[in-house]
Amino acid sequence: MVGPFSRILRNTVLRPLGLTSSPKPTAKAAPSPTPGPTPKPTDTFEPSKKPQPTPSPSPGPAPTPPQPPAPLTPPSTDPTNPTPPMVVRPSKNFNDRPAGQDIDSIVLHHTADGSDTSSLETLTGKSSTPWGKAKVWYKEQRGGPVSAHYVIGKDGTIYQLVGDQKRAWHAGEGSLPGKPGDVNNRSIGIEIVNEGDGKDAYTEAQYKALEKLVPYLAKRYDVPVDNVVGHKDITSKKHDPSPNFDFDRITRATEEKVG
Ligand SMILES: [Zn+2]
Repeated sequence: MVGPFSRILRNTVLRPLGLTSSPKPTAKAAPSPTPGPTPKPTDTFEPSKKPQPTPSPSPGPAPTPPQPPAPLTPPSTDPTNPTPPMVVRPSKNFNDRPAGQDIDSIVLHHTADGSDTSSLETLTGKSSTPWGKAKVWYKEQRGGPVSAHYVIGKDGTIYQLVGDQKRAWHAGEGSLPGKPGDVNNRSIGIEIVNEGDGKDAYTEAQYKALEKLVPYLAKRYDVPVDNVVGHKDITSKKHDPSPNFDFDRITRATEEKVG
């Protein structure tokens, strides 16, 4: 075909169809694509991510609350002389009684401190606060470490600090009348929280606690009533318990139990 028609046909039809003889572009080798990270398949066999409920923290058993310390002396098995309720607050200040030493006396004291907290800190040698620790340290530097088997709080709580069979450090150089020798070796010491100034009243709750504790101990260890004494009765250097303490109440309660 020659003529205008043939040119039109060549330009509009054959070229796009690649049927002309015009040179093909040189097939340049396409640069190989840089191997990048393999894209993650979007279609996996993982379960679809549905919103999961937030697991509740620690689904296991509830944590055990801290247990109170075990009694320092095995409770009484005598049904006629049960051990009174008491709170165990172990002291670090004690040692062993001499081998074969019987308990034959009970000594009552006042703490010369109207606070249960600081009385217990002094007599246990322990505190949970820096200020309390500093006070305990200072007192021990001045007077040495001290303790008692029991402390009677203002509200009548009986605190047990030292096991009965151990030797607490409450009576210093005192000795029972007519019985020379170290009282700490043979006695149980009970400290009553009180200022000791003769004005600070001993509470009714404290008397009631002592009316239980002292007869119980006297019966359990076969302590004669005459050997239930005040600190002032075993040394001239002390005056506790103070004169406003009604010692007769404790003596009467003990006599009723042990005769
Ligand atoms: Zn004393």
